[in-house]
Amino acid sequence: MRSIAIINQKGGVGKTTTAVNLSAALAASGQRVALIDLDPQAHASLHLGIALGTSDRSIYDVLTAETRFEEIERQVGERLAVIPSHLDLAAAELELAGEVGRELILRDRLSQYLAARHDDPLDFLLIDCPPSLGILTLNALTAVDEVFLPLQPHFLALHGLSKLLQTIEVVSQRLNPTLRLTGVLLCMYESATRLAAEVRRDVDAFFEQRKGANPVWGRAQSFRTRIRRNIRLAEAPSFGKSIFDYAPQSHGAEDYLALARELLGVAQSDPAPRARAIAPHDDSVLID
Ligand code: ADP
Ligand code: MG
Repeated sequence: MRSIAIINQKGGVGKTTTAVNLSAALAASGQRVALIDLDPQAHASLHLGIALGTSDRSIYDVLTAETRFEEIERQVGERLAVIPSHLDLAAAELELAGEVGRELILRDRLSQYLAARHDDPLDFLLIDCPPSLGILTLNALTAVDEVFLPLQPHFLALHGLSKLLQTIEVVSQRLNPTLRLTGVLLCMYESATRLAAEVRRDVDAFFEQRKGANPVWGRAQSFRTRIRRNIRLAEAPSFGKSIFDYAPQSHGAEDYLALARELLGVAQSDPAPRARAIAPHDDSVLID
C-alpha cells in the first residue's frame, strides 16, 4: 500500500481537488483506495457528497475518543472509502494539545484499520490535510510514507516551502523515519502563460539545487502530469461529485486520470513514483 499525505500550509492550492479526484481516478483504475479527510472544513467529504450532521461521528471522534475508522467510513464508490470530517475537528488541535503522543494517534488508529481490512487490503491511502502545519498535519505526516505537494503557479508559490520542508524533516527524524516528499504537482496550470512556465522552472530548480542534500526530499520530483485550470473542477464540489461523475470528458478528468496513470505506471516496476526527472531548463513548455 502507498500512503500519501497531500500537504501545503497554504489554502487554495489544489490539495482537496487533488485528494478527491486522484482518489477517484485511482479507484476507477481498479485500485482500492481510502481517503481520510483531515481538514475541519470537510471540503473533501462535501466534494464526495458526504455532509455529516452534528450527531454523526467523524475523524474528530477517531482522534479524540475511541472511535474506529470502520465505524465512520463511508463507501462512495466500489473501491473508494472516505473517512469523513466535520467542523468539530477544529477543536481537536486544542483538545489534543496536552495529550502525550498526540502526533501518533492517527497512525495507531490507521494500523488498527489496516489490520481489520486484511482480507480486503488497500492499494492507496490518501490524506487531505488542512492548510496549516499544526497537530492535524503532524498526525498525517506521522501516519504516511509519502508527501505530495500541490503548488499553484503563482509568483509566491515557493514562499513558505522551507518551513514545510523543515517540518517534514523534523517529523522524519523524530517520529517517522520512512517519510519522504516524493511528488510536486502543479495545479491550476495555464500552459500558455509565461508565469506558469517560470514557476515551473523555479520549482524544478529549487529541488534540483537541494537534490541529494537531504534524503527526505532528495528524491522529490515534479510530476510530468500537470493539472490544467479547468472550470469543471471548480464546479464539481457543489454537486457532491468527483470530476469523473460530474464531467468525465473534461480536461480536469483527463488530467487526474493521467496523474493516476503516472503513479501506477511507476508502481508496477519501481516503488518510487516515476515523475519527470527534474531538469531546471526544460523547454517542453510552450511560452507565449
Ligand atoms: P486547497 O484544498 O489547497 O485549499 P482546493 O483544492 O480546495 O485547494 O482548491 C481551491 C479552489 O480552486 C477550489 O474552489 C477548487 O474548486 C478550485 N480549483 C482547484 N483546482 C482547480 C483547477 N485545476 N482548475 C480550476 N479550479 C480549481
Ligand atoms: Mg482543502
